[in-house]
Amino acid sequence: MKWLKDLDSFLEDRGIFYLREETLAPHTTIKIGGRALRTLYPAREDELISLLTYLESKEIPWYVVGGGSNLLVSDEGYQGVVIMLKNLRGIEELSCGEQLRVKALSGTKINEILRFCYHKGYSGFEFLAGVPATLGGAIRMNAGAFGKSTSFLVRKIKLYREGRVWERESKEEMWSYRSFKEEGVILSAELEFPKQEREVISAQLKEIWEKRRLTQPVSERTFGSVFKNPPCCYAGALIEQVELKGYKIGKAKISEKHANFIVNEGGARAKEVIELMQFAQKKVWETFRIYLEPEVKFLGITYEA
Ligand SMILES: Cc1cc2nc3c(=O)[nH]c(=O)nc-3n(C[C@H](O)[C@H](O)[C@H](O)COP(=O)(O)OP(=O)(O)OC[C@H]3O[C@@H](n4cnc5c(N)ncnc54)[C@H](O)[C@@H]3O)c2cc1C
Repeated sequence: MKWLKDLDSFLEDRGIFYLREETLAPHTTIKIGGRALRTLYPAREDELISLLTYLESKEIPWYVVGGGSNLLVSDEGYQGVVIMLKNLRGIEELSCGEQLRVKALSGTKINEILRFCYHKGYSGFEFLAGVPATLGGAIRMNAGAFGKSTSFLVRKIKLYREGRVWERESKEEMWSYRSFKEEGVILSAELEFPKQEREVISAQLKEIWEKRRLTQPVSERTFGSVFKNPPCCYAGALIEQVELKGYKIGKAKISEKHANFIVNEGGARAKEVIELMQFAQKKVWETFRIYLEPEVKFLGITYEA
């Protein structure tokens, strides 16, 4: 394919690291998924912008991946280019007082930001402690837990879309449950954290970690919550009530610990995960007339409920 050759030349000229036909499974926390034609690893913001501009101008299909912790990739992979953001990392301190203000690149791990704040005596991201997300993914998904969400901490967001880069002050109307509504690729964000004693943060971390360990399959291959919670109740409770805890299709299983998690027992296929999701949705619909909307994002898959 000519466009692939041209892309390779473009990447080589600019010294942007890339791989051919890389398997995507290792880049996801559920460890499922076939190959992409190319995986690209920009390490700087200007590299990412030039890449996106190039891909858009050539009408090449592309997709961005952060920590791959809420993602299901097709067994057949993706006939396009995947931009891996994990090398686009860095935290810059902007100001420090009652609040700590930082700017972080979108591929920075949430746990890295959490550690940075902890050492300086500021709190904020404890609710996502141990979650293998990047900042960009946490913003896109408005990741949250225990009554808190990413939107509470974000003050400004820098985005790329269709050849334009712009910064947006964070406003309430831009956010909803598990979603940041503005389109585009998140390049970086400014965040604010309140001062807190380290002992208090440590105690909160311990409590949150213990809660997760007791209620979620944290050491297994999953992609976090499968479905969003409907307005009435918890998705996990509904799936549990239709007695699907532990139900398996192939090597994909509804977790016995938390029914809104699907576990890859080893060698599970995306197809099996999809079937399991559709089955759980159908059972819940038939029993309660409640529609479960997937929270997980799909790559190379057209999901039909
Ligand atoms: C053990 C475990 C526990 C979890 N617990 C929670 C929890 O408590 N609360 C919660 O909300 N979620 C949880 N999750 C799910 C997941 O961690 C979150 O949804 C997280 O925000 C995804 O971040 P990511 O960087 O891994 O994104 P990815 O999975 O890589 O991507 C998710 C989506 O965001 C898009 N995206 C990624 N980066 C960018 C960017 N820079 N710009 C634009 N779009 C982007 C991707 O294209 C994709 O559509 C959990 C997952 C696991 C495995």
